Amino acid sequence: SKARGRGSWCFFESDMDERLAESLRLESALRQAVPRGELRLHYQPIYSCSTGRMTKAEALVRWENPQLGWVPPGRFIPAAEESSLILEVGQWILEEAIRQAAQWRAQPGLAPVVSINVSVRQFAQPGFESQVFALLERYGVPPACIELELTETLLASDQEDLPALLHRLHDAGVGLSLDDFGTGYSSLSYLSRFSLNTVKIDRSFVMGLQESSRNHSLVRAIISMAHSLHLNVVAEGVETWRQYEILKAEGCDYQQGYLLGRPMAADQLRAHPQVLAGE
Ligand code: C2E
Ligand code: CA
Ligand code: CA
Ligand code: CA
Repeated sequence: SKARGRGSWCFFESDMDERLAESLRLESALRQAVPRGELRLHYQPIYSCSTGRMTKAEALVRWENPQLGWVPPGRFIPAAEESSLILEVGQWILEEAIRQAAQWRAQPGLAPVVSINVSVRQFAQPGFESQVFALLERYGVPPACIELELTETLLASDQEDLPALLHRLHDAGVGLSLDDFGTGYSSLSYLSRFSLNTVKIDRSFVMGLQESSRNHSLVRAIISMAHSLHLNVVAEGVETWRQYEILKAEGCDYQQGYLLGRPMAADQLRAHPQVLAGE
C-alpha cells in the first residue's frame, strides 16, 4: 500500500491531496528517524499544588531531521499513526522514557514519575503490556515510577479486553492518566468504567479560565466529579499565575504549563526548580 517503494508513491502523488502527500513524505523520513537517532524526549515538569514539588514530568517527543528541520509532534505523530510506524516510534519512546526514569532514580534528588503518551494503535497491539513490564524489569524501574497517558479515543475504541488490560497495569502500580479530558467523546462513564488514576484537564479549558465564567464552572465540575471518583486532576497549559491560583483554589491536584516550565532536555529538568517559590 503506502510507502512500498520511493517510486510507487511518487507516481500517485499528483492524485492525492496535499495533506496525505505530506503525511507520506513525513512517514518516509520518519522511518529512518529511529535508526538514525533523530528522536529525543523532552520533559515538562508537573507540580503538586499542595506541596509545590515537581512530582511528575511528561515525556514529549522531539524530532529533528537534517532536511525537514524541527518537526513538531502534532504533525508527525498523526502521520505515524496512519501507518504501523507508530509502533516502532512508540516503542522507542517507551524505552527511552523508562531508561530516563531509571537514570533519575540512580542520581540523588530528582526522581519524578515519568508520564508517557501512548497512541491508540500502540496500546492495541497484542504485545504492549508485556513490552511495558519487560522494560520496567530490564531497567529496574518500579511500575509506580511511570504513568501512561491515554486518550478518550482509546477508551471509546471498544477493544474487548481493554478494561482488563488497564486493570492489570493499574494493579501492578502503573499510573493511568486520561489525557486532554473534555476534548473528545468525553463520556463521563469512562471515568468510572476504567481503572484510571488521573484526569488531565485540556488546555482549552484552562485558557479561558480568567475570562469565561463558563470555563470556570466546567473546570470546577470536572475537578469535583474526578475527586468523587477518587481520581487526581492535572491541569495542563497553565500560563499565568491567575490561572494557577484559580485552579489551586478549586482543588486541582497538579499543574503543568509554560508558567511552571516548558518541555526541556532531561539534564535541564534537573536544574529546574524542584519546589515552586513561595510554597
Ligand atoms: P499533549 O499530550 O496534550 O501535550 C501537551 C502539549 O502542550 C505539548 O506540545 C506541550 O509542549 C504543550 N504545552 C504544555 N504547556 C503549555 C502551555 O502552557 N501553553 C501552550 N500553548 N502549550 C503548552 P507538544 O510537545 O508539541 O506535543 C503535542 C502533542 O503531540 C501532544 O499533546 C501529544 O498528543 C503528541 N505527543 C507528543 N509527544 C508524544 C509522544 O511521545 N507519544 C505520543 N503518542 N504522542 C506525543
Ligand atoms: Ca499528554
Ligand atoms: Ca494533554
Ligand atoms: Ca492537549
